[in-house]
Amino acid sequence: MKPKDNETFAYSKVTEETLRTLNNILGKENVLIDKETLERYSYDETPHGIHELPEVVVKPQKTEQVAEILKLADQKRIPVTFRGQGTGLSCGAVPIFGGLLISFERMNKIIEIDENNLMAVAEVGVILTDLRPEVEDRGLFYPADPGERTSSLGGNIATNAGGMNCVKYGKVRDYVLGLEVVIPSGKILQLGGKTVKRSSGYELMHLIIGSEGTLAAVTKVIIRLIKLPKLFITLYIPFRDMVGAFKSVSEILRNRITPTAIEFIEREVILETERKTGRRMPNHDAEAYLIIRLDGEDEPILFSEGEKISSICLENNALDILVADTKESQSKIWEIRSAFYENIVKNKDAEIIDTVIPPSSIPEFMTKVKSISTKYGVKILSYGHAGDGNIHIHPIRESLSKEEWYQKLPSVMDEIYKTSISFGGAISGEHGIGVSKKTYFQTEFDIEQIKLMKQIKMVFDPNNILNPGKIFD
Ligand SMILES: Cc1cc2nc3c(=O)[nH]c(=O)nc-3n(C[C@H](O)[C@H](O)[C@H](O)COP(=O)(O)OP(=O)(O)OC[C@H]3O[C@@H](n4cnc5c(N)ncnc54)[C@H](O)[C@@H]3O)c2cc1C
Repeated sequence: MKPKDNETFAYSKVTEETLRTLNNILGKENVLIDKETLERYSYDETPHGIHELPEVVVKPQKTEQVAEILKLADQKRIPVTFRGQGTGLSCGAVPIFGGLLISFERMNKIIEIDENNLMAVAEVGVILTDLRPEVEDRGLFYPADPGERTSSLGGNIATNAGGMNCVKYGKVRDYVLGLEVVIPSGKILQLGGKTVKRSSGYELMHLIIGSEGTLAAVTKVIIRLIKLPKLFITLYIPFRDMVGAFKSVSEILRNRITPTAIEFIEREVILETERKTGRRMPNHDAEAYLIIRLDGEDEPILFSEGEKISSICLENNALDILVADTKESQSKIWEIRSAFYENIVKNKDAEIIDTVIPPSSIPEFMTKVKSISTKYGVKILSYGHAGDGNIHIHPIRESLSKEEWYQKLPSVMDEIYKTSISFGGAISGEHGIGVSKKTYFQTEFDIEQIKLMKQIKMVFDPNNILNPGKIFD
C-alpha cells in the first residue's frame, strides 16, 4: 500500500537542527521523539491498517505555530501528516513517509457560540463529545454526527465525515461556513466566514473540506448550528426478510417522511453482537432490522409519522415495532448500534468497505454482495446508513486459513467496489480514501478528473509535503 519510493519528490529527514528550530517554535515539551510517542501516533483505527512511525510528533497550540512549522517543513522538504484523534478508517493520519506529524489535540478551544447567528467558532482539535453539550445547553444542535464522537472537528472536516443523521441533515460539509487554513508557504488564509451564503468566485473552502490533509492544515472552523429538536423517538423494527426492510426504507422516503436516521442491520450482526456482549436483543430471529430515529417539535405530528412508518413496515413483513420514547431507552438502542463496529470487526481479520450507492439500489446491490460472498466462500456482514445508501460491508476471515483469506480478499473487495460503481455509487461515503482505498479510487474517476485533482494538489502544495501518498500517488 505504501509507495516503495518517491521518485519525483526527494524528502529530507528530520535533523538535529530541525528539532532545535521546532523546540524554539513550540517549546521542547511539545516536540516529541520518544519511541512510545512515535508508536502511539503511527496508526489510526483502520482494521489491520498500516503502522508507520513519524520522525517527530509536534503539538502546536496556535495557528501561527502551525504556519511556522509548515514553512520550515516546506523549505526543508520534510513530509507532514496531520492528525486529529486518529479515529480514521482509511489510514489517512498514518505518516507513511515518516517526517513530521502535527497533532491538533492542544488546539481544542471552543472560541464562541454565536447564538444570534446560530454559529460556533472553534479550534480544530475540539472533539464532538466536548462540543455537543456546550451547544445543546443553549438549545442548539450540531447535527453532523460521525459514529465516533471522540473524533475531532479537523478530522471530520478533512474527511467530510457523515454518520447516522445524514438522511435528514446531511454531511459535515453542509455545516461548514468558514475555515482558517495554513498552506505550506506558511500563509494563513481565512476562507468563507460568518455568512450563510456566498457566490464570490471559486469556493476554496469546499476544496479543503474532504481533502484529507493533502491541501492545507485546517486550524479554525465556523460551523452552522440549528435549533435543538424538542422531541426524539426511536423505532426498532425486526423484519422477516431483508427485501422487506429495504422496501420499507424507499416507501418511507417516498411518503415524504424524513427521519433523522434510518439504520439497517442484518441478522448476523445482531447475533455477533449478542455473542460479544452477552446481551439478548429483542426479536433475535428476524432476518434484518431497521433502527429509525425521528425528531420534531410537536408530539402528535411525531407520533403520527411514527405510525405511518409502522404501517409501511408492517405491510412489508415487519415482525414487530418497538418504540423507544424515553431518553434512556433510546440511548440503549443507539449505544448498541454504535458498538457494532467494535463488536464485529475489532481483533478480527476483517475489512471495512464504506461504499455508497443510490438508496433505491440497495436491495439489488445487497443481493449482489451476497452472491459475491457465496462465490468466494467469504463471510460478509453488513449494516449501515440505509437512508442515504451508505452501507458498511465487512468481509471477515472467520474459518478461512490466512493463506486463503489473503488470496480471496482482493477479488472480493474489487468485485464489491466495482459493483457499487456500476450502480452509480462511490468508493467512500464518509471515511475517505487515505491509503487503504487508493487502488479502488482509480476505478471511480476517469483519467481527466484525476489529472485535475493532481493539478489542484500541486497548486496548493508544489513540493508535495502535505500528507503524501494519500488519495493518489
Ligand atoms: C467506531 C468508529 C465509528 C465511526 N463512525 C463513523 C461514522 O459514522 N461516520 C464517519 O464519517 N466516520 C466514522 N468513523 C471514522 C472517523 O471517526 C472519522 O473519519 C473522523 O472524521 C476522523 O476524525 P479524527 O479526528 O479521528 O481524524 P484523524 O483520523 O486523525 O484524521 C483523519 C484525516 O484527517 C486529516 N486531518 C486531521 N486533522 C486535520 C487538520 N486539522 N487539517 C487538515 N487535515 C486534518 C488527517 O491527515 C487524516 O487524513 C468511525 C470510526 C470509528 C473508529
